[in-house]
Amino acid sequence: MNKNKKTNIVYWIENKLYLNITNRCSNCCKFCIKNFREGLTGFKLKLSKDPSITKIIEEIKDVLNKKNWNEIIFCGFGEPTERLDVVLEVTKWIKRYYGKPILFRINTNGQAYLINPGIEVVKEIKKAGIDKVSVSLNASEETTYLKICQPKSDKAYGAVLDFIKKAKEELDVEVTAVAIEEVNLNKIKLLADKLGVKFRKREYVSCIF
Ligand code: SF4
Repeated sequence: MNKNKKTNIVYWIENKLYLNITNRCSNCCKFCIKNFREGLTGFKLKLSKDPSITKIIEEIKDVLNKKNWNEIIFCGFGEPTERLDVVLEVTKWIKRYYGKPILFRINTNGQAYLINPGIEVVKEIKKAGIDKVSVSLNASEETTYLKICQPKSDKAYGAVLDFIKKAKEELDVEVTAVAIEEVNLNKIKLLADKLGVKFRKREYVSCIF
């Protein structure tokens, strides 16, 4: 990775357009890619500070009409709901500016209600136009979650389960788990079945894809 290269707020993988709006996160996962790398697939994703909405929109404008994107995903080297207001505003702006139907997804650690106390997060993101959330769960019980995701709050695991239950009432929901030794994928798949949501295994490359 070229150290002088500009940092990317917007990046893409095939026809999916990703928005890297913050590097802040309420977790400190052992497997988080930002612990090991500056970026992904040629894009530099380590931000020195949170970009302004104006800057984010400027970068989106440069690429939005250059390709037939099939999905826009809030996902980068941090937790998007740390900047919930930005997620809402940018989603609404793209919907107005782009005009064509497109899927909107948030890849999240599922702690949005802890991060944004007092806000009806699921209702707000649904209202803004988000279609789907992909929740990085990684454990079928609390002890393992605390060990591998190292959340700031000891209430995090319960909050993630609560978020999944609320989100599935309004949105398309999948839970994901990263394929590392400490993670029991089968048990998480069973938990996803019990919660009534989809499950997706992620190869060990952080919460991208
Ligand atoms: S992997 Fe995702 S949830 Fe975990 S620390 Fe990194 S950005 Fe946060």
